[in-house]
Amino acid sequence: MNFPLDIIQNTPTPFYLYDLKLLHNTLDACITESNKYGYHVHYALKANTNNEILQIIKEKGFGADCVSGNEVKKAIEIGFNPEDVAFAGVGKSDAEINIALDYNIFSFNCESLPELEVINEIAKGRGQVADVALRINPNVNAKTHHYITTGLEENKFGINMWEMDDLLERLPHLTNLNLIGIHFHIGSQITDLSVFRGLCIRVNEIQDYFVKKHVQLKHINVGGGLGVDYENPDTNAISDFATFFKIFHDHLKLLPNQQVHFELGRCLVAQSGSLITKVLYVKNGVKTNFAIVDAGMTELIRPALYQSYHHIENISNTSEANEKYDVVGPICESSDCFGKAVKMPHTKRGDYVAIRTTGAYGEVMSSAYNLRDRVKAVYV
Ligand SMILES: *Cc1c(COP(=O)(O)O)cnc(C)c1O
Repeated sequence: MNFPLDIIQNTPTPFYLYDLKLLHNTLDACITESNKYGYHVHYALKANTNNEILQIIKEKGFGADCVSGNEVKKAIEIGFNPEDVAFAGVGKSDAEINIALDYNIFSFNCESLPELEVINEIAKGRGQVADVALRINPNVNAKTHHYITTGLEENKFGINMWEMDDLLERLPHLTNLNLIGIHFHIGSQITDLSVFRGLCIRVNEIQDYFVKKHVQLKHINVGGGLGVDYENPDTNAISDFATFFKIFHDHLKLLPNQQVHFELGRCLVAQSGSLITKVLYVKNGVKTNFAIVDAGMTELIRPALYQSYHHIENISNTSEANEKYDVVGPICESSDCFGKAVKMPHTKRGDYVAIRTTGAYGEVMSSAYNLRDRVKAVYV
């Protein structure tokens, strides 16, 4: 991207810079491709809950996928239609369940029988019937970082198929629940799209099971997880939505009148954001040079948390990148490192550095550790 140096130089660093044009183009591409098959796409708020960004996503007509009571509240405050709001999560508290019941949301995506029992009790106490979907653990490997793999039996998420006979026997007794569908979410930053074909095949098998049990499911929610290209943010700025949705169209066997839902987070917002930071000091180490910048793991924790890769560039000096730097933050932890041996041109104090593809799971995961100021956002 062409960084607007005039704006950057007049803004105190560090800050997130959001490219709203790219955001619009990304959302439009997703809408065009999903509309081909009449699919419903919910935006997973947890990727980025910035008001400006939420407003744009809402105006485009996306639904919302929430993982906390406050996200449900936020989605509805921003103006998402409660009928398009799904609420997932393994540990919904009573207060959060009440919030979702207040708004009569589209669906509780339920992850265990104990949770179903509690939602039923609370709904009964309020004289309501809650629409629920069963989040099923399909035991499909997302082939992504183990911290963001969620669809294996060893993960804490979802209901296992071997528990389903007992659950379906109990369900008719939970009279304040209305089963509307099944839900899956197998992981995040999935770049091997054959994984989604595998998911479809598994969903088809699971559908056969429910048909045999004479359980009707109106909604099939296949979750999110479509990855982005962290290596090539400029040449590959928009994920391949065409291929992604076509896989589901080609491989998912639907029953009459079934609706398909997606919950996309990262791929809708990641490339639109860059963390802009300034070089404070260049320090020559024994084996390497350190570029010490004024952003740290407090502003962007992904590299420290998942060893994630982000493309890093010096945007003040665009000459040939013929030196190597470890780009590190000021926090007292060795994991506070954005990239090792990053190729940059000769870099000096005062240079601006962009850490790319940080629009998802960046600002939302920022903290005030070390009593640092909360990171700001700028929109272009
Ligand atoms: C995080 C999450 C998503 C979104 O995942 P992305 O990888 O950002 O697309 C969707 N559904 C659920 C239930 C989630 O927890």
